[in-house]
Amino acid sequence: MTPTLAYAARSATSPLSPFSFERRTPGERDVSIDILHCGVCHSDLHTARGEWGGTLFPCVPGHEIVGRVSAVGRLVSRFKMGDLVGVGCMVDSCQHCQPCTDGLEQYCDNGFTGTYNGPEQGTGANTYGGYSNHIVVRESFVLRIAHTEDRLAEVAPLLCAGITTYSPLRQWNVGPGHKVGIVGLGGLGHMGVKIAAAMGAHVVLFTTSPGKREDGLRLGAREVVVSKNADEMAAHAGSFDFILNTVAAPHDLDAFLVLLKLDGTMTLVGAPASPHPSPGVFNLIMKRRRLAGSLIGGIRETQEMLDFCAHHGIVSDIETLRMDQIETAYERMLKSDVRYRFVIDMATLTA
Ligand code: NAP
Ligand code: ZN
Repeated sequence: MTPTLAYAARSATSPLSPFSFERRTPGERDVSIDILHCGVCHSDLHTARGEWGGTLFPCVPGHEIVGRVSAVGRLVSRFKMGDLVGVGCMVDSCQHCQPCTDGLEQYCDNGFTGTYNGPEQGTGANTYGGYSNHIVVRESFVLRIAHTEDRLAEVAPLLCAGITTYSPLRQWNVGPGHKVGIVGLGGLGHMGVKIAAAMGAHVVLFTTSPGKREDGLRLGAREVVVSKNADEMAAHAGSFDFILNTVAAPHDLDAFLVLLKLDGTMTLVGAPASPHPSPGVFNLIMKRRRLAGSLIGGIRETQEMLDFCAHHGIVSDIETLRMDQIETAYERMLKSDVRYRFVIDMATLTA
């Protein structure tokens, strides 16, 4: 067993605070990782505050993990001590159902094991995430980092925000000649803008924050629309091939569905605590539009995304935090005041 320092929520209403526990003894297929940085995803906040229900307490969030391998089990072949690696939203799955066999572990028929909020395969124990200084992960859920070490903190958010936007952009074949909307410029949205632009699409950012206009253009959008402005929205009616909606709060989906052209799709990745108002059926029927959803991405695709981002020089725009600033980060996230991902420097987590 490895003594581990962490920050945990003890209940849905208590602020995160220091917590100590022991990681499992590494097995022969396990990789032990000293965590160097961990991104802060809005899902961490939803879970720590019990907004989705089903949170197991104490809860140690964090699923945008980068670090250095400190030891490997006897049968581990792809990693060695000293390697820079990443861990995303999953640490295990059944590995034998059809989705797992197809590299779609996030859709495992038997339920994947989240990096936090478990349950661990076999034991049913709660899993503890990346707001900690050490983690033990099965080799097949550990990712290689191709970026240089000096970019490591900026790579952390790719492990969730990167793959959650890359996967639907790939699934709907986004590329040159496509007009693609990204809704919300937060952690996911800013990765969506960068990745869709690198895929060659004409990217339009939709934001509720007029102050993010310049950033949207700098990040790769060709146009920025303030979604509260009806005239700006109307100018894009019926013109989009694909819209990726990352918004973390319930809102009017019709305002975006009417911007899709014939056979266009809007995919929701944002997962608000309460439902969106139901969209009007006629907006879907009249142009055979589709409303879809997408969950993170499989391990194979996550590696593909990391390599794609390294190749295109893509990292996240980050603001570094001390571990004890996490509650301030959550409050700023609720005010859409993130530019554009908080990343915790794990060296600031001390006993
Ligand atoms: P975030 O950094 O807080 O960004 C969300 C953005 O949504 C905000 O920056 C804001 O952008 C916009 N927004 C917030 N409130 C809004 C409102 N009331 N109306 C319209 N726009 C609003 O959050 P994130 O980490 O990117 O996560 C976004 C959502 O995706 C969360 O619900 C998270 O749990 C979910 N998620 C899903 C998956 C998945 O697999 N599907 C994976 C990870 C996260 P503007 O200021 O530009 O408007
Ligand atoms: Zn996440």
